[in-house]
Amino acid sequence: MIGGGLAGLMAAEALAAQGVQVDVYDAMPSVGRKFLMRAKGGMNITHSEPLEPFLDRYGRRRNQIVVLLDAFSPDALRTWLKTLDVETFVGSSGRVFPTDMKAAPMLRAWLHRCAKRAWGSTCATNGSAGTLATSARHRRCASPRPTASKK
Ligand SMILES: Cc1cc2nc3c(=O)[nH]c(=O)nc-3n(C[C@H](O)[C@H](O)[C@H](O)COP(=O)(O)OP(=O)(O)OC[C@H]3O[C@@H](n4cnc5c(N)ncnc54)[C@H](O)[C@@H]3O)c2cc1C
Repeated sequence: MIGGGLAGLMAAEALAAQGVQVDVYDAMPSVGRKFLMRAKGGMNITHSEPLEPFLDRYGRRRNQIVVLLDAFSPDALRTWLKTLDVETFVGSSGRVFPTDMKAAPMLRAWLHRCAKRAWGSTCATNGSAGTLATSARHRRCASPRPTASKK
């Protein structure tokens, strides 16, 4: 998997659950960095409104998104977070937040679970996936150590 953002990590975990040996490569020294940045401004996970108005927010992409949300709905996301021991709450705006408002514990728990399921994450120091493909080994960051969020 090239890229250890939320999409890459989720795809890697899904593949590993099917018995596929997965290695995650990232240009940055650790995975999930943008995810950690989210917490700085108050990280919302999803929205609690009913599916129909929620889908309408996607405008012309509604028909593409409905398939995705059918497979993994906002409620399913909250249930998935519970498997990481992350509780969520609905804010006054209807947005859903982790109870502690922090991203780092969530990412740490997720990477810990991934490590236990025996797939590795490998981070490049040079920022290039092309170089990753030809270089034998890069700095390992298999042990979960996301950068701590200040908030
Ligand atoms: C300040 C901020 C606040 C946000 N707040 C929220 C929020 O509250 N709620 C919300 O839902 N979303 C929020 N977002 C958006 C959310 O962070 C993104 O939607 C999400 O991170 C996208 O995940 P991704 O996996 O698609 O991409 P990314 O998180 O960008 O991950 C891509 C990964 O690929 C790596 N990569 C890229 N190119 C290469 C390469 N050539 N070789 C190797 N690795 C590579 C990158 O280093 C990165 O780790 C926020 C974003 C920002 C910046």
